Amino acid sequence: MTMNKPQSWEARADEYSLYGFTDLPSVHKRGAVVLTHGEGPYVVDVNGRRYLDANSGLWNMVAGFDHKGLAEAAKAQYDKFPGYHAFFGRMSDQTVMLSEKLVEVSPFPNGKVFYTNSGSEANDTMVKMLWFLHASEGNPQKRKILTRVNAYHGVTVVSASMTGKPYNEVFGLPLDGFIHLTCPHYWRNGKEGETEDEFTARMARELEETIEREGADTIAGFFAEPVMGAGGVIPPSTGYFQAILPILKKHDIPMISDEVICGFGRTGNTWGCQTYDFTPDAIISSKNLTAGLFPMGAVILGPDLSERLQAAIEKIEEFPHGFTASGHPVGCAIALKAIDVVMNEGLAENVQRLAPRMEAGLRAIMDRSDHIGELRGIGFMWALEAVKDKATKTPFDGDLSVSERIANTCTDLGLICRPLGQSIVLCPPFVLTEDQMDEMFDKLEQALNKVFAEVA
Ligand code: PLP
Repeated sequence: MTMNKPQSWEARADEYSLYGFTDLPSVHKRGAVVLTHGEGPYVVDVNGRRYLDANSGLWNMVAGFDHKGLAEAAKAQYDKFPGYHAFFGRMSDQTVMLSEKLVEVSPFPNGKVFYTNSGSEANDTMVKMLWFLHASEGNPQKRKILTRVNAYHGVTVVSASMTGKPYNEVFGLPLDGFIHLTCPHYWRNGKEGETEDEFTARMARELEETIEREGADTIAGFFAEPVMGAGGVIPPSTGYFQAILPILKKHDIPMISDEVICGFGRTGNTWGCQTYDFTPDAIISSKNLTAGLFPMGAVILGPDLSERLQAAIEKIEEFPHGFTASGHPVGCAIALKAIDVVMNEGLAENVQRLAPRMEAGLRAIMDRSDHIGELRGIGFMWALEAVKDKATKTPFDGDLSVSERIANTCTDLGLICRPLGQSIVLCPPFVLTEDQMDEMFDKLEQALNKVFAEVA
């Protein structure tokens, strides 16, 4: 029962909703931004204020916030067959078509797809598949999972254990058997005098030593995002994947590419693994898969894992796993349309065409600032890292909350971008125009100048 209901949207949000991943002091001071609708890459709040969302929602609303064709595909499917599952040998025609499409656009000559409701669940599903597969092949001890510090793989118990972020300690995570290797961020983690090639070789040595120490027969798989997203947009050091893949192969450790952010165009190609020129054993997809219009994740298995998993399932006649909404017909219809929109309506080309412009604009902002230490990224995913001292890469005192202040100032100016660590992350929708990009540069630079003048 609700008594004395607060009046404003902000107060109502505060009163009845628990915020996830939200800096509470800041939101208490400023109030939540309550949104009603979107127009292209803009979102509009209850007070009629427009914000250019340079985050694409959470990296996912790649076609903007009012794409008519996507909404029509959803409506048509809701009218025709509004819901079903994928258990007991039944599934919708849309599910069949989406699996075909995903294998067709994957880097694999053939493969199989399994659906979830989110990226976290897709990673959990992949881990269960690996545990099940290895046990079925007589290796029940092959259960450890390798990921990297700063990796983000989700929030469920297993995917949070894979995530290499210290905040999971509050949950008593990671679980045992989840090992985090060094983040391959040369600018921050390279040693004095070490070249980038030497750094990459050190990352590869660390992997090999870890496998030898733990025992290859205890390691179920290695998961990596081609570009770390929520870790702060961290592309791999030069030659990283080429250095580590042969080691994993030699030790018979499957390599899983978590493409929840990188997949479907974000890095300028359909998959991040294509941008970085490697072929994984499986791909994890979500977010862009439905252009953000439906909660859906997918595990796309390459030929080797498909075949081995199929054999393992046939032994016990059933894979005891699935979600009520796995392969939901409306989600699949939207995903089919979203793939078509991104690949055939010029969105992927727009990313390719404008990525150099985005890099150049951000580089110019960095060059004009005394407090941006690094610009990093690719395609339509970039981060600017704030530093107190550019020459020494010394970060600002954490208590100053510099990146949060920059993001809040951007919000005041009508630009949504994300603070991650000491970085500001920009990952706009693929529909962004040149003029909108200039608006993003302009507002971002105003915010940077204002905050750096206050803290420096
Ligand atoms: N994997 C990666 C690379 C992600 O960026 C995310 C979410 O940001 C996830 C997994 C988890 O996806 P979800 O939030 O849909 O559970």
